Amino acid sequence: MGETVATGGGPPGWKLWSLPGRVRVLVLGVTLLALGVLALAARTAPTPEQWVTAGWLAAAALPHLHASHLIERRRRDRDGTPYVDLCSVWIFAGVVALPLVLELVLVAVIYVHRWVLVNRFDAVRPPHRTVFTAATLALAAAAAAGVLRASGVHEHLAAGARPGWADLAAVVAAAAVQWVVNTGLVAAAIAWTVTVEHPRRLLGSASDNLLEVSQLALGVFVALALLWWPPAALLMIIPTFALHQCVQLDQLKLAARTDQRTGLLNAIAWHEQAEHALEHSRGRIGVLMIDLDWFKRINDTHGHPVGDDVLAEVATVLTRAVRRGDTVGRYGGEEFAVLLPDVDEAEVRTIAERIRLRIRALRITAPTGEPVTLSATIGAALHPSEPGAGLDEMIRAADDALYAGKKAGRDRVAVARC
Ligand code: GH3
Ligand code: MG
Ligand code: MG
Repeated sequence: MGETVATGGGPPGWKLWSLPGRVRVLVLGVTLLALGVLALAARTAPTPEQWVTAGWLAAAALPHLHASHLIERRRRDRDGTPYVDLCSVWIFAGVVALPLVLELVLVAVIYVHRWVLVNRFDAVRPPHRTVFTAATLALAAAAAAGVLRASGVHEHLAAGARPGWADLAAVVAAAAVQWVVNTGLVAAAIAWTVTVEHPRRLLGSASDNLLEVSQLALGVFVALALLWWPPAALLMIIPTFALHQCVQLDQLKLAARTDQRTGLLNAIAWHEQAEHALEHSRGRIGVLMIDLDWFKRINDTHGHPVGDDVLAEVATVLTRAVRRGDTVGRYGGEEFAVLLPDVDEAEVRTIAERIRLRIRALRITAPTGEPVTLSATIGAALHPSEPGAGLDEMIRAADDALYAGKKAGRDRVAVARC
């Protein structure tokens, strides 16, 4: 897979000495174990032909990594999820085509290159993270190589025999073992370092895993080329680089939909998602427009950065207070929108009231030590707010209710007449 994650703020949370004790033990333990495996593997010296094969693999891997280093510098971690880099193509090819010692040397070379050209420029990627990533992949590769050795694929391929279905099954099993070992170690490091709201994210998103599986599949073809027609492995630089560009596209799409301050959907993305929910819903739909009260005073009294912190805290409150499947977005400066599918009026009132009370219960302290008091007014509307009404009409109705709530004294829920 790839690297571990950083917290949003990066340092100090990821300095080795500031990590929780068991993460430090994990990082050091995995690194020492990887060095131990290297020492054991080095007892069998590779043949000259194996060195040549390793040379061809490095000749394919390094140009790809070099050409894509600027993309990697621009890529950023998302909190609490693994980070998929594009090294697995080459690493899994090495698992299939190289003896273990050369495979481990390849992993080391790839991550020294990665450190020199990418990670050392990024404050949220301190050196131990690159070391941990390399060590994790070394152990994952060693475990996968163990599967191939046990199933006889290595000898089979080395003898130049035509592989059969059993060999393919063994290669798939080896790929699965590499994924399990790597993902398991990375997930442990993340879970012990940051608070993870959704444990499933520790395994990466569906598209992250599709990317990883694609890499492993390409790795098999690189290995076959290395064993039978090494120069052809160089051709794989092109699709791998193309895959890398798609990853960047994916990140840009995500960034374009996300509000950077709060991590919520931005207004355009919220609107899109809400339209989609409206089209596909069979029950009634509710919309909440939430506006923080006297927010300008918070900025004026405590400063803009405190206002920013408040917005982030409110975003967390909102995501925790809604149900699974509800859509939360930042609609404007200090205004948020929530779409609630399959609700009746009583449920809309209950959810809106829960949000209002939790925002009021937020205890935020300014750097001066002064408490920041906060409340919100919430306007709600239910679909259909008027015959034939679409999302825009619902938003307008919720906005009108919000305005009425403000006029009536703020810190309240106002539901539009349906
Ligand atoms: P009301 O109860 O009537 O809503 O009063 P208000 O002060 O909340 O409303 P107003 O529209 O007068 O002020 C909104 C303020 O929100 C003004 C603007 O500076 C602030 N704001 C908007 N976006 C941000 C942001 O990203 N960060 C910070 N700190 N403040 C923001
Ligand atoms: Mg406002
Ligand atoms: Mg306001």
